[in-house]
Amino acid sequence: MTLRTGRHFLQIPGPTNVPEQVLRAMSAPVVDHRGPEFADLTHRLLPALAEVFGTSGPVVVFPASGTGAWEAALVNTLSPGDRVLCFETGHFATLWRTMAEQLGLRVEFVPGDWRRGADPGAAAERLAADTGHAIKAVCVVHNETSTGVTSRVPEIRAALDAADHPALLLVDTISSLGSIDYRHDAWGVDVTVAGSQKGLMLPPGLGFNAVSAGALAASSAARLPRSYWDWGPVIEANAAGFFPYTPATNLLYGLEEALRMLAEEGLPQVFARHARHAAATRAAVRGWGLEVLCADEREHSGSLTAVLLPEGHDADKVREIVLDRFDMSLGTGLGRLAGKVFRIGHLGHFNDLTLAGTLAGVRMGLELAGVPVRRQGLDEALDVLAGCPRTG
Ligand code: PLP
Repeated sequence: MTLRTGRHFLQIPGPTNVPEQVLRAMSAPVVDHRGPEFADLTHRLLPALAEVFGTSGPVVVFPASGTGAWEAALVNTLSPGDRVLCFETGHFATLWRTMAEQLGLRVEFVPGDWRRGADPGAAAERLAADTGHAIKAVCVVHNETSTGVTSRVPEIRAALDAADHPALLLVDTISSLGSIDYRHDAWGVDVTVAGSQKGLMLPPGLGFNAVSAGALAASSAARLPRSYWDWGPVIEANAAGFFPYTPATNLLYGLEEALRMLAEEGLPQVFARHARHAAATRAAVRGWGLEVLCADEREHSGSLTAVLLPEGHDADKVREIVLDRFDMSLGTGLGRLAGKVFRIGHLGHFNDLTLAGTLAGVRMGLELAGVPVRRQGLDEALDVLAGCPRTG
């Protein structure tokens, strides 16, 4: 076994590094989840959680990965045979579409090239053509973690409004919540899907649905089978501070601390920090002479950057070298991007020198893998971080 010293660099786009304070909060003794101490925690936690979603409505917390929260969003709002409009933005959008089909929904999948976000123009066209309102929901992955592209959700909302279309808007924010500007109420989203292991700086294990009044109303008519995922019993039990089943108590302790940290920094500052780190990463990639996968300047992700390698170079070879030599994990290429891209996660508990170290490791890995790079890329990123553009 190789001897490792120092801290492993976990630079995949989630799960992300968990801050010491959060780890300590989770190490508290387990409490009675039907006792008064736990009820107090729930009453403190849920309003603080709603702030991060930008909602005054309920946020349902499941002991689940993000995939469970996807399913909860669909089964609570839709009925067998309902039509849903989805966009092929990448691997995760494709998985969500497959789930919808497996649940008995009829999906219209707007094709995409995995380099751009959901196309508001295509949404507008399809919604305007659907004069009979057969489409019951529009599903968008806000930040496509496989590509590093952030869809313009307000423009999708505008397309619904322009067509005066009643379809629900369901948005996956699994890799954007707490990292990239997002507003459930202000953007008119009906269900926001999220998970604990990315911008919220927790280990995997919690899934979330923020729910609008319209989505709640739809849930009383929705007929897809649901039991564990049913919002109703959770919302009802939450009012008294409890859950209908055993909640992930210690993850909730961690969540309270993570929410405190986000509130202390302030969400606008959190988003600005992520955007700055993303800009520095792009400066490095372009300075090296490589291509950022995201093809639209308006849609660069604040939480990760996918780096496209030149033809004939294997992105997984670079990742393997970086792990082996520098003890750093980078994200692999998913689905049709396997071997073509690697992904740099720059989200969550993260600072300037974490990024500088990450980019130094990437540069060394690229050189060792024989990928031709210009050396100034790293300096260009450092200049962005230092806030002093180069003079010569
Ligand atoms: N959606 C997005 C955008 C994701 O990034 C992920 C996981 O990385 C998922 C859905 C699936 O979440 P999970 O792996 O927690 O089930």
